[in-house]
Amino acid sequence: MKMQDLTGKVAVVTGASSGIGAAAARLLAAEGVHVVLAARRVDRLDALAAELGAAATAIACDVADAASVATLFAAVKARHGGVDLLFNNAGLGVNARFETSDPADWRRMIDANLYGVLHCTQAAIPLMRGRPGAMICSVSSVGGRYGVENWSVYSATKFAVVGFHDALRKELGPDRIRVTVIEPGAVWTEFGHNVAEALDKRRNQLDALHSEDVAQALVYSFAQPPNVLVEEILMRPVLQVAP
Ligand code: NDP
Repeated sequence: MKMQDLTGKVAVVTGASSGIGAAAARLLAAEGVHVVLAARRVDRLDALAAELGAAATAIACDVADAASVATLFAAVKARHGGVDLLFNNAGLGVNARFETSDPADWRRMIDANLYGVLHCTQAAIPLMRGRPGAMICSVSSVGGRYGVENWSVYSATKFAVVGFHDALRKELGPDRIRVTVIEPGAVWTEFGHNVAEALDKRRNQLDALHSEDVAQALVYSFAQPPNVLVEEILMRPVLQVAP
């Protein structure tokens, strides 16, 4: 396959402390990318950074907090001068029937899944200009394409990510910054902690994706020639025939 050599590129991966983010960091590092690992659980980031050695730097960041995001990107600029890939992956989902759901959970999801993407994207754009093949890739969800019962607010945040990217793509295309969305179905991760048992049962039934499968979709998109934009990848376990 004709792919870009990613050696020496710089990536920021949010939500790198577990699941899809950690798998993406490992795969990018294996491709020669320097990965800046961002999340709140510093112990997890430090362990991953130790595993990846010189290929990674861990920086604590709460993507919901604009000041924390500004600090992250100031450090990235100082150390690396710019960014080739922003992987907006940090996020969470709380399963609840909307009528009885807790507004505090709405806010947590909106803050991380939507404001997190907005803060990181705005901070990254100036660091991406003039870097061939630069890309912003965000993780939405199959729930960002189809409403899923008992995930209504989560779905709202993920639909918002898709809409935001559709517009952003038009703003950044002339600057040759590629804007991609990945919409996974069921993946084996720590996601959905308040219904972990039910989700694990469903993941077993569906023979769910693994984090590494989503990481491969990211690297596939990023490693395309710089003029090639993979706009969107919706991926699910073959057994997941409904949202
Ligand atoms: P995990 O729970 O394993 O990982 C979530 C990651 O997000 C953690 O590293 C967590 O780090 C980070 N995170 C959450 N909130 C914040 C925050 N405010 N600031 C910084 N980091 C934060 O689940 P996944 O790997 O599955 O989740 C990754 C993405 O994939 C999410 O956006 C999720 O919505 C999406 N997704 C997942 C699916 C699945 O079935 N697993 C399906 C479709 C989409 P920390 O707590 O250390 O801050």
